[in-house]
Amino acid sequence: MRMSIDKFINFFKKKIYGQTFICPVCHLELSYSDLDQHHCLVCPLCGVVIESAEVYGHPIPVINDVEIYRPQPNLRLHPLTTHLPIGLFPFVFLGSVLLLILSIYMKIAGIHEPSSFWGGYLPTISNVVLIMLFISTASSIITFISGYSDWRQRYSRRPYRVISLKIFLSWLFLFFGTVMICLHSTVFQSGALTFASIPEYFATIIYFLFMTAAMVTLSTLGHVGGYLVFGK
Ligand SMILES: [Zn+2]
Repeated sequence: MRMSIDKFINFFKKKIYGQTFICPVCHLELSYSDLDQHHCLVCPLCGVVIESAEVYGHPIPVINDVEIYRPQPNLRLHPLTTHLPIGLFPFVFLGSVLLLILSIYMKIAGIHEPSSFWGGYLPTISNVVLIMLFISTASSIITFISGYSDWRQRYSRRPYRVISLKIFLSWLFLFFGTVMICLHSTVFQSGALTFASIPEYFATIIYFLFMTAAMVTLSTLGHVGGYLVFGK
């Protein structure tokens, strides 16, 4: 199972990063595509300047300098705010899956009124899910802006593949979150799925597909962010 997941991840990693090498100091995996016109790059984690030297036709990373001045992140806002969407969204996911399971049970058991089921808590759970969904999506905007600002200052806007990936995934999460906020009231009416019409079925499928995709996107963002800060 783990080998299959690794294969799946490595397939996408190769597509995104291309050929990679390991920083000789901090062991961060870096992309050869990040090298500048002088075949150099500054490691975003440890700050050494790495030059790619050709040895018998093979590129070998050689350290030839260290970046002395590196500004610290602004108020450390990015690491602080990043925990809000990452901390809240799993509860959005779990809450909506709970409502989905309860709705399917209601359908099978022939219960039509959500207020007469589970002590009438379904509308409350649905509202809590919507509030947490809104907070995690809105806070991801602050996370994105603070991260973008850190990249400009701390990494001097150097075009790392890993940063491009983070920017792309952040936009993707914002898109998924916004669509889910718009669809939530259509999908959960009185806190339960109604399965009443084709458009509602369609909205429900989109909602849960985006929910799963947003969860994967956010997990990847957190993983890549942590990797960039703490290394391997
Ligand atoms: Zn390094």
